[in-house]
Amino acid sequence: MSGRLIPVSDRPWSGGRVSPRAVCVLAPNASPMTLDGTNTWILAEPGAHEALVIDPGPLDESHLTAISSAVHDLDVKISVIALTHDHIDHSEGAAELAKRTGASVLAWRGRTLARSESLLVDGLEVEVLPTPGHSADGVTFYCRADAALLTGDTVLGRGTTVVAWPDGNLSDYLDSLQLLRDAASNARLLLPGHGPALDDPARILTEYVEHRQARLQQVREALTAGARNPDEVVDVVYAGLDPALREAALLSTRAQLAYLAD
Ligand SMILES: [Zn+2]
Repeated sequence: MSGRLIPVSDRPWSGGRVSPRAVCVLAPNASPMTLDGTNTWILAEPGAHEALVIDPGPLDESHLTAISSAVHDLDVKISVIALTHDHIDHSEGAAELAKRTGASVLAWRGRTLARSESLLVDGLEVEVLPTPGHSADGVTFYCRADAALLTGDTVLGRGTTVVAWPDGNLSDYLDSLQLLRDAASNARLLLPGHGPALDDPARILTEYVEHRQARLQQVREALTAGARNPDEVVDVVYAGLDPALREAALLSTRAQLAYLAD
């Protein structure tokens, strides 16, 4: 969801190649919550025959076809599928894509990835950074060769994300942003789960941390001014919000209230 403290980028985004190893296939599921749609990332070492797909996206025939045709154009086959987290807009198509390609599916829960584990796919190396907060199972992938962080919904290409309380947790989320801020000092590209690829990860991470602190301060002030429940806090802190985002704002507000209560 978007936040008014961070300038919302209106850079158009339709996916495509963003770096030597990363190509995005944009899923046709745009909405206020999913922005331009889910980004399905195909990563392959230059000249390799096998590819890693991160976040297959929704179970949608046209999207699965678009993934196959991108893979065909790249002259690779998908051998591994990994998820940044198990929300349906990222994971729903995983089983069908695996069935069609014979790829194995790695996820953070279920068949868990070890902390700091690296995925190796035909010469491509991607490190796994645990980044819970948006959801409990969130991970970020770091492709060192392209200096690219694939952040799922932990950091988006526009606006800010929802802390999907109670599965999501603000304390975890702030720790994850700090971890990413450290990782971002070496990164040149941020490849999010929704919205455009961004080219200054360190600046984006700093803005995200500042935004969260500012929101927490707004919530404290709303409570001091007499707001008595999450709805009343949302009315004050997220005044003028698109009604389609109210549920998300309520989740983030519950996460903020739980954090302040601890
Ligand atoms: Zn998402």
